[in-house]
Amino acid sequence: MKPGIHPAYRRCVVTCACGNTFETRAVKPAIQVEICSNCHPFYTGQQRMVSTAGRIERFKRKYNLN
Ligand SMILES: [Zn+2]
Repeated sequence: MKPGIHPAYRRCVVTCACGNTFETRAVKPAIQVEICSNCHPFYTGQQRMVSTAGRIERFKRKYNLN
């Protein structure tokens, strides 16, 4: 392994379009992203959909709508 062959990774502040910021390691000192783990549909929309579906199922069971 020769020294200097790898880029110098350092602390990088990632700023998301939702306003969330977090630190990671990258060659750039700052990165702007449009989606992060805080606002990605996988973490927000999908979970909301699952819980909403659960509520609808319970509602239907309660009133025997199925
Ligand atoms: Zn975000």
